[in-house]
Amino acid sequence: MTTVGILGGGQLARMLALSGAPLGLRFLVMDTSADACAGQCAPMVVGDYRDQDALAEFASRIDIATFDFENVPADSARWLAERVPVFPSPRALATAQDRLVEKTLFRELGIPVPDFVPVATREELEAAVARIGTPCILKTRRLGYDGKGQFRIKRGTVGDGAGVDDAWNALGAQAATVGLILEAFVPFERELSVVAVRGRDGGFRTWPLTENWHVDGVLSASLAPAPADGGLVRQAVDHARRLAEALDYVGVFALELFLRDGVLLANELAPRVHNSGHWTIEGSETSQFQNHLRAVAGLPLGDTRMLGHACMLNWIGEMPDGAPVLREAGGHWHDYGKAPREGRKVGHATLRADDRPALAGALERVGAALGRETQVAPVLERLL
Ligand code: AMP
Repeated sequence: MTTVGILGGGQLARMLALSGAPLGLRFLVMDTSADACAGQCAPMVVGDYRDQDALAEFASRIDIATFDFENVPADSARWLAERVPVFPSPRALATAQDRLVEKTLFRELGIPVPDFVPVATREELEAAVARIGTPCILKTRRLGYDGKGQFRIKRGTVGDGAGVDDAWNALGAQAATVGLILEAFVPFERELSVVAVRGRDGGFRTWPLTENWHVDGVLSASLAPAPADGGLVRQAVDHARRLAEALDYVGVFALELFLRDGVLLANELAPRVHNSGHWTIEGSETSQFQNHLRAVAGLPLGDTRMLGHACMLNWIGEMPDGAPVLREAGGHWHDYGKAPREGRKVGHATLRADDRPALAGALERVGAALGRETQVAPVLERLL
């Protein structure tokens, strides 16, 4: 009987535990909060990730460890790795935790990235804006997620200043703690992601390319397979494979991409199962959650082929009425069991259908019934 320890007890840990049960795996989740939603599906250790007593208890009750979020302190991951196998490795985790290290690796591997410059002072920010040009985005190097810790500079090359001042006022204090990076703003045509898995034996698979739509930096909807030609898919798979091999990665990861003039630029590596892969639960032969567990447990990887077409809609803040989704033949409901809170991811729905017109029909009905016409509109535009 193998017990998988998961650091972080959010919806990703919850869905990992749910998908690992048929494999006979047991789970232990560690989170700082006793009411983390994975605790409804698996036993928990409650404690700070830096608390050695809590970590020691966690380590003593598990056979392997993995993560449901990337901001676990790297020292804690390394401490744990001296006691149990940890996948993905603390090195892979540390790379993905720092936008500068991550983007430098992309560049070294020949993966195109938006131009970027590290920034430590107000003067360096001015010089960086002058070099990169506007618009550009100032981001924290570490601990940013879902568009948090970012400031878009629309104007303000040296001289007219306002944009640069505002950006420094918003994030400058964090230069000394989490570090800052300035990136060129990419006027992308589409946002895509590739979710991939690599096994302990080096076996590598990807799910079909997914198209994503964000609202205020938070994922709103995903469509798979993303309408894309073979060349684009090859670029994405190639980027993902190069990264996986360079990091000797084990488990699932997602690479977020911007499409611009036929080129896929890498935005971010998420070293874990990813929101843009939630559709794989019902939309593919083997979900990202189960394949992550197969990878970390050293089991054969499952087929990642799609079953038709799928669209995932995120529910942010509070759950809507589930009935319109449940009424659909290919409608699937996921309530994470969280208390409502503004901006919080509380659940999602996946609509699956055999062809694009059928998926569009289901999306139109669900959008209208829930008053979510705006949320489904860009997906419908792509489908029709
Ligand atoms: P991130 O936290 O880096 O994944 O950014 C969240 C969202 O902000 C992305 O999904 C994009 O929609 C947008 N964004 C981030 N970086 C850039 C960029 N360099 N150019 C254009 N849009 C960006």
